[in-house]
Amino acid sequence: MAGLMNSIYKGVAAINVKTSTITETSKLKTVISSREDEIAMLMKTIGETVYINRASFNMGMVSEMLEAVKTKYDEIESCKSRIALLEENERSIFGKEGGAEAKLFCTQCGAPNGVGDRFCEKCGASLTD
Ligand SMILES: [Zn+2]
Repeated sequence: MAGLMNSIYKGVAAINVKTSTITETSKLKTVISSREDEIAMLMKTIGETVYINRASFNMGMVSEMLEAVKTKYDEIESCKSRIALLEENERSIFGKEGGAEAKLFCTQCGAPNGVGDRFCEKCGASLTD
């Protein structure tokens, strides 16, 4: 009974991890795409500023915008590494627990099979030996 309760708890915990990973990952992706839009707009404005002031351009005219672009790139990078961390965390849980991502490789032909499969889908070799 304790074993059963344990696996139920583990299952619930895994579902919670998966749900929060999806939610947080999609939030982070939204942040990334809006930062990318903002960068594109800033770059356009910088380009226009350079063009308009081409006779007397100096970097001081765009330094604040360049700084903002750099900050946004940094934000994108930190979102990306956060996503990578979340995905790695999820893999480490679902990989070991036999989730959808887990694969059992055939010893005869190397084809990936689902965990719990008894015979290779590709060559029919036994996977339980
Ligand atoms: Zn096989």
